Amino acid sequence: MNKPKILAVDDDQRMLQSLEKLLLTAGYEVQTAQGGQQAISLLERERYDIALLDIIMPEVGGHQVMDFIQQRNINTMIVVVSGDTSIESAIESLRRGAYDFLRKPYTTEELFKTVENAINRRLLEKENFSLQNKLEQSEKFYRHLVQCSPDIIYILDNEGRLAFVNDRVDSLLGYAPAELIGKHYSDLVYEKDMLTTYHTLSELKANESVFSKAEIRIKYNNSVQEPRFFENSFMLVDRDLANCNIFETVDHGKIVNESDHSSVVFGVARDVTERRRAQEKINYQAYHDLLTGLPNRKLFKDRLSCAIIHSKRDQEQFTVMFLDLDRFKFVNDSLGHMIGDGLLQAVAKRLMHCLRESDTLARIGGDEFMLLAPGVSTSEDAKTIAAKVISALKLPFIVENHELFLGVSIGIVLFPEHGSTMEDLIQHADIAMYHCKAQNKGGYEFYTSHMNKTFSESLSLETSLRKALETEQFAVFYQPQIDISSGAIVGMEALIRWNHPLRGIISPAEFISLAEETGLIVSLGEWIMRTACLELKRWRDSGLTSVRLAVNLSAKQVEQPNFVEKMIEVLNEYDIPGQMIELEITESVIMKDMNSVIQKLSQLSNRGIHIAIDDFGTGYSSLSYLEQLPINTIKIDRSFLRNVKSTTHKSSVIAAIVAMAKGLERNMIAEGVETETQVEYLRTLGCREMQGFLFSKPLGAEAAMRLMLGNPFGHFSYGNY
Ligand code: C2E
Ligand code: CA
Ligand code: CA
Repeated sequence: MNKPKILAVDDDQRMLQSLEKLLLTAGYEVQTAQGGQQAISLLERERYDIALLDIIMPEVGGHQVMDFIQQRNINTMIVVVSGDTSIESAIESLRRGAYDFLRKPYTTEELFKTVENAINRRLLEKENFSLQNKLEQSEKFYRHLVQCSPDIIYILDNEGRLAFVNDRVDSLLGYAPAELIGKHYSDLVYEKDMLTTYHTLSELKANESVFSKAEIRIKYNNSVQEPRFFENSFMLVDRDLANCNIFETVDHGKIVNESDHSSVVFGVARDVTERRRAQEKINYQAYHDLLTGLPNRKLFKDRLSCAIIHSKRDQEQFTVMFLDLDRFKFVNDSLGHMIGDGLLQAVAKRLMHCLRESDTLARIGGDEFMLLAPGVSTSEDAKTIAAKVISALKLPFIVENHELFLGVSIGIVLFPEHGSTMEDLIQHADIAMYHCKAQNKGGYEFYTSHMNKTFSESLSLETSLRKALETEQFAVFYQPQIDISSGAIVGMEALIRWNHPLRGIISPAEFISLAEETGLIVSLGEWIMRTACLELKRWRDSGLTSVRLAVNLSAKQVEQPNFVEKMIEVLNEYDIPGQMIELEITESVIMKDMNSVIQKLSQLSNRGIHIAIDDFGTGYSSLSYLEQLPINTIKIDRSFLRNVKSTTHKSSVIAAIVAMAKGLERNMIAEGVETETQVEYLRTLGCREMQGFLFSKPLGAEAAMRLMLGNPFGHFSYGNY
């Protein structure tokens, strides 16, 4: 502390001077005021540690100076110096804030003692003041830390009621801190986490451990928002600490009353909602198919291995099914992935509808699903489920105004009858599904060990053929059909090609029969039909509206009970008029089941669809059926043309066919035309439509399109006959 500064006030000049002298010699800094008025103006300007104040002065007296000091809240120690010895006067002075009283006349000793006293007191007060100040500052600081903490900080009293909570609870959960005071934690904790909270807190108290943690969801101050996740750290704390000012409750009450000896819980709740949600999302994504929301292959395998363990223990059996959608690829390829995705979602939804809650349906690949049905132990029960699934998918799906038809092939295995390990079960269900697909589209098939054997045996050929369909190794080529009277391309025959990854291009002659044997021709044929129709639609969209598409059909396709509906469905789907399609069938197809074939072809014919007899003349059947059949075109087999080496060639067969076709008023076309001579020969007979290498080999889609747009056969125009 610097030199103490004293203001001496007296109206008596002489007294004042001697007082000043005394104080100066004692080492104080002194200023004097002769009278009250001067004292006030000095006090207004400067600070004094002590004011030695005479009471009785003319005009402005000591009491008035004291009033001034009080009014202005001037911080100085007042020592009254007065000849007035009455007790009332002393009381009056003290009431006005005097610290001490020095009676005139006083000894030097008395003066110094009083002044020293006041100085010491003053020092003490100053120290106290700064200490208080510091405390207040630090309290403010800590209070700030608590209130502005990114975490919710709270104190639970010994009964679990909130005794303190910081402001963060407002921004995170929408509560005003005041409304929470006195509330029990169970009012805030999310129901499902109540037990955890209870256990954590009781354990903390029982073990007198200092610290514990728990992730607890806390409810919002409204029922709309989801509860948020908080990582809570609990600490048992001393009552005294809890009672410190920082945690004073809103009404400044103490947290724990004095009689209570149990400790309180100090808690810090950190909002980990975002982290939790991210975690959940990651977990979800790892185990679910995001498109349909169904479990994925990984989760399915988890559930399956659980089911195996369960079953072995409880002797409870279950069923696994492998589901593969039929025709999905066409939708995806022709209408695009958006529709394809929508369709998959709709399928998942429909499937979920016909399953029990305990069943697991997973999407394990593009259009492949697996089903785990616990408790389904007999083939009868499994059949019921399979039938339910099949009929559920039978109804058309409407996706963005498209009416879409799907089918499903299901392979079924029973545990443990058809396999005891996860791998076996999945593989066998897969095999059964493939068999189902190969036999008849749409249906189910139980696994048999025999299946496994034949399956492995034919694996190389059959599976590679099937794989080919899945991995798009097939392509449709197009060969033009020319009307030589105009030189115009009037048709295009769709011819399948297999681009084998190892063997290169394989001719249909090599694999069509295998496809027929295995039944795969049904799906292959449909693929060809759709692919070609899609292409035809492209032609039409490019203005090529008069080119007809010829598609080859095998007997197996025509035999399908829904063959007619299928055809019409496809044409409708691509918006193709019937007369733009010509279906090529061989005589053998007709001979197989004539009545049914006639009926089917008539139905198609009524729709305007053209029918052509392929390879005509090679069959040994009677020609009389031609009259009964709705045949538009007779296709003269290329073997008859092979020998035509001159324009005057005498072939009774070709001439007979041409004559018959004319008589029956059927259109005709010659295939395998390789030379100008053959063209000339056919022309003189009166056959105008031709197809063969002379004009063009079968071409890929792009080349075929270019050819049609180029009008390259104008020079073949011979005009009308
Ligand atoms: P097809 O229906 O008689 O088809 C005509 C075949 O003759 C085609 O052979 C074609 O490339 C070939 N060809 C065309 N012009 C000439 C020519 O000037 N000279 C010679 N030597 N050959 C010519 P490809 O494409 O190998 O087809 C062979 C057979 O495979 C077809 O005979 C048909 O029976 C079957 N096939 C082809 N594509 C399909 C299809 O999409 N579905 C069905 N079910 N069968 C198909
Ligand atoms: Ca043909
Ligand atoms: Ca042919």
